[in-house]
Amino acid sequence: MALVSMEKRLCAHTVSRLNLGRAQLWIRAVNYSELHRLYHQPFFELLKQARAVHEENWPEREVQLCTLLSIKTGGCSEDCGYCAQSARYTTGVQNERLMGTEDVMAKAEAARASGSTRFCMGAAWKGVRMGTQKFNQVLDIVRNVSTLGMEVCVTLGELGAEEAKALKEAGVTAYNHNIDTSPEHYPNIVSTHTFEDRLRTIRNAQDAGMSVCAGGILGLGEGIDDRLKMLEVLSEFNPQPESVPINSLMAMKGTPLEGEAPVDSFSLVRMIAVTRIAIPRAKVRLSAGRTQMNKETQALAYFAGANSIFYGEKLLTAANPRANEDMQLLRELGLAPQAPNPQMQAPGADLDRPLSPCCETDACCEEEAGMTAGCAGAC
Ligand code: SF4
Repeated sequence: MALVSMEKRLCAHTVSRLNLGRAQLWIRAVNYSELHRLYHQPFFELLKQARAVHEENWPEREVQLCTLLSIKTGGCSEDCGYCAQSARYTTGVQNERLMGTEDVMAKAEAARASGSTRFCMGAAWKGVRMGTQKFNQVLDIVRNVSTLGMEVCVTLGELGAEEAKALKEAGVTAYNHNIDTSPEHYPNIVSTHTFEDRLRTIRNAQDAGMSVCAGGILGLGEGIDDRLKMLEVLSEFNPQPESVPINSLMAMKGTPLEGEAPVDSFSLVRMIAVTRIAIPRAKVRLSAGRTQMNKETQALAYFAGANSIFYGEKLLTAANPRANEDMQLLRELGLAPQAPNPQMQAPGADLDRPLSPCCETDACCEEEAGMTAGCAGAC
């Protein structure tokens, strides 16, 4: 165990030796103590630093508008403590079958007409498997949506290498798979799959050439340290995620986390700012929980480095601000919607450092050591 801890520290301190100018910023892992120092600075000092990193990397003053559609709602076998779609909780969410291609296309066309540039589709189930009818149907949906000129993102749970390759070939731009929280807090939130399972899916998506959208949720009963440890893991991905959604829990009645208090605005803005510094080239997405934020909080979040939002009135089963209110706020702040880039290439890996983030558990390290794309025995 001592060896694991020592190696863990080595992994977390890894900094690319490549001198690629701007691209170098993609590939620097930021360790927990550095994140802790950044986070706990005086508020305006942190904002000043985050703003400088933001302006260097994203000088265009643009915000990506993403629409998220639930293509298969409710009845999920998993027990994520924050989720109204788990079959284990009584939340009032109605189970629905996987949507047909035509219905999804109608929603995607409407999203494009309202200015959305990335169309994300989520399904409430554990994962997908090659050769099944439901996966074939998902592939058909992706092939069709990818003709619309928007970036196509899917969030389908666990993914093997074959399934990842099939999704990439069908036209997926980005695969969303959040790590939710720190490795230490994760077992308090979910018991039906592990943190290491999440890392493996993200690795499979990256190996297939898809960009990865991976972030987490604030307000799951975690401490600030858990938030920063989550960010440490995200910064260790090689390549780092192309998008990092920062969600604030919308406590759902009937779920184990229904009584959690809303996330404090300053904590949220601090987290956005540290994320911007740690993962400078990622689109940092202000995600679930925006209905609980006033315009001023959202403006501070944009200033601190958020440059992507979920757009449209629904976020899976939760409410979201109205599209016209979002456009009005962007105009007031002098921000513009970002153009879509469906041909976007996923960022490349730095072959001088481990491809997967390291984690604290022996089980993860043993498993990963046996994988060609894993930690390569480094943790
Ligand atoms: S978060 Fe996803 S995997 Fe977890 S219960 Fe909800 S739908 Fe299922």
